Amino acid sequence: MNADLHCHSDVSDGTLRPEELAARAKANGVELWALTDHDEVGGQQRARRAALEVGLPYLTGCEISVTFADTTVHIVGLGVDTDDAALRAGLAATRDGRRRRAQEMAQELAKAGIEGAFEGALNFVGNPDLMSRTHFARFLVATGVCNDTQEVFRKYLVRGKPGYVPHRWASLRDAVAWIVGAGGIAVIAHPARYKFSANEEYALFSEFIAHGGRGVEVVTGSHSAADAARYADTALEFQLLASRGSDFHSPRESHMDLGGMPALPARLTPVWGALEDRIQRPS
Ligand code: AMP
Ligand code: MN
Ligand code: MN
Ligand code: MN
Repeated sequence: MNADLHCHSDVSDGTLRPEELAARAKANGVELWALTDHDEVGGQQRARRAALEVGLPYLTGCEISVTFADTTVHIVGLGVDTDDAALRAGLAATRDGRRRRAQEMAQELAKAGIEGAFEGALNFVGNPDLMSRTHFARFLVATGVCNDTQEVFRKYLVRGKPGYVPHRWASLRDAVAWIVGAGGIAVIAHPARYKFSANEEYALFSEFIAHGGRGVEVVTGSHSAADAARYADTALEFQLLASRGSDFHSPRESHMDLGGMPALPARLTPVWGALEDRIQRPS
């Protein structure tokens, strides 16, 4: 099944509206879709309505920013009740501080000779509560400082480079508890992106499972074929459900389009099998 269970709208750091994403997913042959904006469920009703209108089965979603072992880790929640009070409060607390962080990032960029980055990034923001590094990256590309967002994330905004501001996100325990408490399944997003030692990665997976986490992204836009093979083994080793998502943000920036990823390896158990009762289907 062509399930795409990870992408972003302009309610977080994507460039398309939820309605545009639903139409694009349908046109690309997606058969089950979830919008997973960062730290935010504000686009969920629109995404669901638009998906059902074009005849596309829908799962609710979000992608929560977590700090684990001094590293930012992303946890995707699928099939959550978006009205759940503890989930909403947890996401609001996680978003809180993004604006101040953005101001500090602009101050750091100014020290490197780049003026006006806060106002510049704000021009790209769809949701003022969700200023992200991606919006700064778009500003740095628009002003010609870098040629593309990949170059930005090599030269700026990352540890040791101008514009980087350390930030403490949610704890792993809390993020998993919010998702599970809201009736969803927690999934470790794009595990190959974290620069963990073998011990740290083992700790991440063990603690995630101890807190109630059940899934891992095996096929994602940020995994190579070798990464997918490696995390397929990890999914089996830890008996985790496997997820698949493009992590699509923008037609101009994302190399993986909605629904364009390889299939999940057949030996894995897809996460959507465990979410049957949470899938919303067109009538
Ligand atoms: P933030 O949550 O504000 O720290 O921003 C994180 C976002 O920056 C991620 O969700 C990606 O959309 C984007 N990002 C981080 N690293 C990269 C990268 N190497 N290339 C492109 N986008 C990136
Ligand atoms: Mn993003
Ligand atoms: Mn992510
Ligand atoms: Mn993402």
